[in-house]
Amino acid sequence: MVKANHSRTTQAISMSSPDLTDAERQAVARVLETPNLSMGNQITAFEDSIAAVTGSQHALGVSSGTAGLHLCVRAAGTQPGEVVCATPFSFVASANVLLYEGAVPVFVDVEPRTGNIDPHLVFAAAQDIMLGRKNAQAWLPPKGASPAATLKAILPVDVFGQPADLEPILSTAWRYQLKVNEDSCEALGAAYKGRPAGTLGDYGVFGFYPNKQITTGEGGMVITDDASVANLMRALRNQGRAPGDTWLQHTHLGYNYRLDELSPALGVIQMQRLDELISKRKQVAEWYNQRLGEIPGIEAPTIAKYTSQVSWFVYVVRFAPGLERDAIARKLGDKGIPARPYFLPVPLQPYMVERFGFTDGTFL
Ligand SMILES: *Cc1c(COP(=O)(O)O)cnc(C)c1O
Repeated sequence: MVKANHSRTTQAISMSSPDLTDAERQAVARVLETPNLSMGNQITAFEDSIAAVTGSQHALGVSSGTAGLHLCVRAAGTQPGEVVCATPFSFVASANVLLYEGAVPVFVDVEPRTGNIDPHLVFAAAQDIMLGRKNAQAWLPPKGASPAATLKAILPVDVFGQPADLEPILSTAWRYQLKVNEDSCEALGAAYKGRPAGTLGDYGVFGFYPNKQITTGEGGMVITDDASVANLMRALRNQGRAPGDTWLQHTHLGYNYRLDELSPALGVIQMQRLDELISKRKQVAEWYNQRLGEIPGIEAPTIAKYTSQVSWFVYVVRFAPGLERDAIARKLGDKGIPARPYFLPVPLQPYMVERFGFTDGTFL
């Protein structure tokens, strides 16, 4: 184990760092010996490896997890002013992609133990909004949403490497004909009742930023079993070029969300090491469980019954009232052990407050 360096200036242990071997370095170097730096066979090999591990029909490499989530919002046909159930406790990108299309997030609170969106509240929100009930308004943001808004989709996030409780979410979606976009950017390799994270909704998205389970530097992947969605997304990521379009013909308003060839070369090797990388993270989590379990007032992460496989992303503990979180994090930092509070609630980010008028105390 790494020895902590007891000084303020050097941090002996990093918060997170990618696990790379010579195999990754050589794979990237081999791409550089070819002239094919974009849209070659590395992206296809990487897509195939994700499709194989998740059992998905289609996998599409994109330039980031955020880009992948945005393509899902487009594929769902989300129109300006439509609303989507989202979670207040995630990385901001999960909700930002709705704003890119002028859609409005209906933030639905989380289960306190897992941090994942509460499926009972999702059902209640969907029912009130879809039936146009009087309290529909109460689910909408204080401003910036039309009271007659239609609900389009649900965007659950598999937070910290543990899937959201997806079965009841899927039944709400089925009942009200909503799309489900699973943000699995933190959960590659996790499973919900034996089913791989990312595969439960209409589309799932993974992210490969250097702090994730596997990395490609920057990069992301969308998976879906729907061939027409996959075709549309392939066109949108490539400047809107539909099959049959020439390089300068663009059927759709698209983006440059392509992934270059160097990143997937790295990704293919990381995918070969996926089990190893996940079990290393599991080992660290077990060390934390053992040691922190001895300390009164510190509650280890809760693993829900429906989680058949955790894919550890970060290890988040809860403190009993009376323990001072920030002071403890500072003391750990002094010992070279980085620790910090995780997400700030998405609705309280300044641009969200400005646009939708959210106030503190609305969510857990
Ligand atoms: C990392 C992450 C993303 C975004 O991924 P990028 O590749 O950084 O764009 C989206 N959602 C969640 C929950 C994430 O953790």
